[in-house]
Amino acid sequence: MTHNDRGLLMVLSGPSGVGKGTVNRALKKRSTTIQYSISVTTRPPREGEQNGVDYFFKTKEQFEDMIRHNQLLEWAEYVGNYYGTPLDYVEKTLNDGKDVLLEIEVQGAMQVKNNFPSGVFIFLAPPSLDALRRRITERGTETGHLIDTRLQTAREELDMMQHYDYVVENDEVELACDRIEAIVTAEHCNRSRVMKKYTRLTEVDHK
Ligand code: 5GP
Repeated sequence: MTHNDRGLLMVLSGPSGVGKGTVNRALKKRSTTIQYSISVTTRPPREGEQNGVDYFFKTKEQFEDMIRHNQLLEWAEYVGNYYGTPLDYVEKTLNDGKDVLLEIEVQGAMQVKNNFPSGVFIFLAPPSLDALRRRITERGTETGHLIDTRLQTAREELDMMQHYDYVVENDEVELACDRIEAIVTAEHCNRSRVMKKYTRLTEVDHK
């Protein structure tokens, strides 16, 4: 298989509390061809979360071991815990010609951008800062000072929008999913990607 048959690496990112997880879960429910990477984290599981489904839950030592052995495509320390993307799964899935979507925070997204410039970077934006504050406060999974830290982080993260290829407003989850699917379709029709394939086909014809 040639490099051009690889799937698309898509990165869905955006500020804390914008609803990346909700949009990711809603996308998963749609019967699309997108594959979803499961991240590794040192954060304790929340109620109802399952190991190997929502995350691979690891100790700090196990996570640091993965960093040392270059087993992560990217990783970040976020509000006191480590989060990272297993490299193996992403490489294998892309090599199988399938599209992979990573739902990650912005520091990690910038690392992916450095290592995979041909990735497609989608910034999920809140309809307003007030909406974002409401979501972080109402989620109720965090205590007071963690809410403040997440809000401050979210403000800084909004500034990162400039580094992305697309901005999708999360005014309504299903609409946000429609927009992301439209982006995937458009990227598969992107001239430079498609032309590589046709150039290869004409080369074969002339042999
Ligand atoms: P939560 O603790 O709410 O599940 O996730 C906190 C943040 O970590 C979210 O913004 C989520 O997108 C991000 N995150 C989840 N997995 C990864 C990952 O593998 N790498 C990075 N950099 N961020 C992640």
